[in-house]
Amino acid sequence: MSDLRELYQEVIIDHNRNPRNFHKMQDANKYAEGYNPLCGDQLNLFLKIAEDVIQEVSFEGSGCAISTASASLMTEALKGKTIQQAEALFNTVHGLLTKDEATDWDRLGKLVVLAGVKEFPARVKCATLAWHTLHSALTNQVIAASTE
Ligand code: ZN
Repeated sequence: MSDLRELYQEVIIDHNRNPRNFHKMQDANKYAEGYNPLCGDQLNLFLKIAEDVIQEVSFEGSGCAISTASASLMTEALKGKTIQQAEALFNTVHGLLTKDEATDWDRLGKLVVLAGVKEFPARVKCATLAWHTLHSALTNQVIAASTE
C-alpha cells in the first residue's frame, strides 16, 4: 500500500492547491449544496446537463484539503458521463470509501487514489461530501446534502 499512500498524498496536495473546475457556473441546470458538519467542509456543485449527459461541472466552497481534492477529482471524472454513469460512479466511490467490499476498480480510474482516505477514518466524510452533493443534485433533492 505504500505506492498508493504516496500517490494519494501527491494527488490530494495537487488538487487542493490547484482545484480543477473551481468556479461558479451561471448557466447550470442542476445545483446542490453540501455540508460536512464534522469538519466544516462546505461546497456548492453546479452541473450543466443536456440529453442526459454532463456537459459541464464545477464547484466552489471552502473545506479541508481532502474535501477540496475529492471534489476536484470528481468534476474531472464526471465530464461527458451520462447521469446513469455518474450515479454508478457515486455508488462505486461510496462503496470504496465506506465498505470493505470489492468494488469496480476499472470504473474508478484515477479516483482509486481516494482509497487512501480509508487510512484516516475521521476524514472519510470529507472525501464523500462532494459525492453526496452530486447525488442530491442528480436526484433533485431540495434539502442540502449532508454527510450525516
Ligand atoms: Zn474535511
